[in-house]
Amino acid sequence: MDHVIRRPQRTLTPEEHETVRGTALLNFQGGLIMGIIDPVPNPSPMSEDEGAWVREQVWPEFITEIDRKYPFGFWRWSMCERGTCWNCLAKRCDLCVHRQEGGPHVDDNTDWVHDTRGRGVAKVIVRPDDAPCVWWCRCPCAKDGPAPDGPARRRRRAKQSATAKPEEEPAQEDSAARPERSAAPRQGRRVPEPVGEAQYTLF
Ligand SMILES: [Zn+2]
Ligand SMILES: [Zn+2]
Repeated sequence: MDHVIRRPQRTLTPEEHETVRGTALLNFQGGLIMGIIDPVPNPSPMSEDEGAWVREQVWPEFITEIDRKYPFGFWRWSMCERGTCWNCLAKRCDLCVHRQEGGPHVDDNTDWVHDTRGRGVAKVIVRPDDAPCVWWCRCPCAKDGPAPDGPARRRRRAKQSATAKPEEEPAQEDSAARPERSAAPRQGRRVPEPVGEAQYTLF
């Protein structure tokens, strides 16, 4: 992992936060796992408005149906346009998906041509030159080396310092370490597991 591809992270505007908040829970979780809660579009010869027109006027219904369930669409994102992994969005950089996996998600450079009903009819090789299209979580945290402190270690440390200096209140740090509800893909304090292949097939 000596070549981390750094791409800028997207900062959601307050309006975009509202859009994300309005996403149905299942799609929100899917979006978190796929890194399309804060995707960053690649430069395109088409403006955003022109792209929106094509999506509305040209795309068949079966595509728009899925697309509109996600805050910034579903079909338009290639691997290299994906944003921050869900653990990092929940401020759990110690569990960054790509730290855990020891590398980025690499696209297999193929896609499908669909018929009007959405049936895949032909495979296309989108980048015959083998140019890699990769998703590497855009959070600026290090993806290797010693993991940053997670809540468990922080709690232990707070407990130790509380024993030494009983006047301190470790509970404060503890609650600050809790991921925000809006960013956490699961409820509760359970440590998330690495995202497996099985979860990907859900979406
Ligand atoms: Zn991170
Ligand atoms: Zn991450």
